[in-house]
Amino acid sequence: MQQQTPVPGGPGEDPRRRIPRTDALLAEPAVAAARQRLGEQAVTDLVRAAQERARAGEIAPEQVLPGLEQALAAARPSSLRPVLNATGVLVHTNLGRAPLSPAAREALADAAGYTDVEFDLGSGLRSRDRGAGARQALLAACPGAEDALVVTNGAAALVLATTALAAGWEVVISRGEMIEIGAGFRLTELITSTGARLSEIGTTNRTHLPDYDHAIGEDTGCVLRVHPSNYRITGFTSTVPLPELAGLCHDREVPLIADLGSGLLAPEPLLPEEPDAATALAEGADLVIMSGDKLLGGPQAGILLGRKDLIARLRRHPLARAVRVDKLSLAALEATLRGPLPPVRAALRTDPDALRTRTAALATRLDGELVPHEGRVGGGGGAEVPLPGWAVALPGALAAPLRTGDPAVVGTLREERLLLDVRCVPAEQEDGLVAAVQRARDAAAPA
Ligand SMILES: *Cc1c(COP(=O)(O)O)cnc(C)c1O
Repeated sequence: MQQQTPVPGGPGEDPRRRIPRTDALLAEPAVAAARQRLGEQAVTDLVRAAQERARAGEIAPEQVLPGLEQALAAARPSSLRPVLNATGVLVHTNLGRAPLSPAAREALADAAGYTDVEFDLGSGLRSRDRGAGARQALLAACPGAEDALVVTNGAAALVLATTALAAGWEVVISRGEMIEIGAGFRLTELITSTGARLSEIGTTNRTHLPDYDHAIGEDTGCVLRVHPSNYRITGFTSTVPLPELAGLCHDREVPLIADLGSGLLAPEPLLPEEPDAATALAEGADLVIMSGDKLLGGPQAGILLGRKDLIARLRRHPLARAVRVDKLSLAALEATLRGPLPPVRAALRTDPDALRTRTAALATRLDGELVPHEGRVGGGGGAEVPLPGWAVALPGALAAPLRTGDPAVVGTLREERLLLDVRCVPAEQEDGLVAAVQRARDAAAPA
């Protein structure tokens, strides 16, 4: 056999010469379609990466196109990746808090394009009723409120309320309620950042009605009651019941704001300690504040409910424009309120026996062990309330490949075992979870 002229693919030929050229790859139908979906730059980067792998000898030149097609199919338009939350924590701050209901997702898609958020389609004129649908849904769900206002998040709602009612004045607050809400953000610093002063009363563990009585004076803009959603003070403690505090505030004609933190509109029997808007308003709070993406189970939003005249003052304040909620959140919030039970509420109500049956079946499929495991409400409220349940225990070595897989799966590492709790994993994603574990096992197995 003649060896002087190298045959393509033959022993004398440099295989790198067979790596497909950039323009040839970009002209491939699958690649052209991906440019529509992901944009020029992202696709060009993936093309270069595929060629680079072939140049480095990691893959054969013939593998460049199939490898590229695979990479394009897996590529996402943003760096945020979907995660299967197998921690059993319902409102997981690091994992985006509340997952949206199917209704809210549909509403998001409807509002994503041009939409009539500030337009009256009947008259063809500009509408001044931005957010009317969400407001009406809130008032229908909480009839005790005279009016409602939605802003970007709970912290913004608190700043808007205290600024509009007390900038240049004092906010009376108990030392037992001066909380840090996470990552170094303190509610008290938030409040004073726009010009209100604090009048701190009582002690960390005990505050009494006369403490409020003495503090309220000429300079008081409002009294603030904050629910400590992420910790508990137990032992020798005392707080003033809301009805008594409200009675005092009304006598002295000072508005009482209750920051509830979590978004319960009505009492939740499974979380008897968690405050709710209907009860707080009935007990005399003038304004209540809550988040949209905690136990309410909706999008990030700050919800204010209460007296019409106070809400009107907030709506008129210049800061209201700076914390205005976007059309996507309005759409998702309204759909959350009017639609089916949102995922966090369904996960909260999961029957432990049904969870055991489901987890036992999964343990069999995954060849893991069924172990008791408590779920949690999470940063969104219900501090310390355990939710009895179950998990599948697997070798801890699977944790890393599961986190970096697609879909990413996040469980809990305990004593070198990985616990997967499916309380917050939708049933229709369980096959995806099983496949992810299989891939993680293959990746973790010694070659
Ligand atoms: C979570 C929380 C906030 C902040 O709400 P965000 O929606 O996260 O901005 C404020 N107050 C309390 C009591 C909270 O629990």
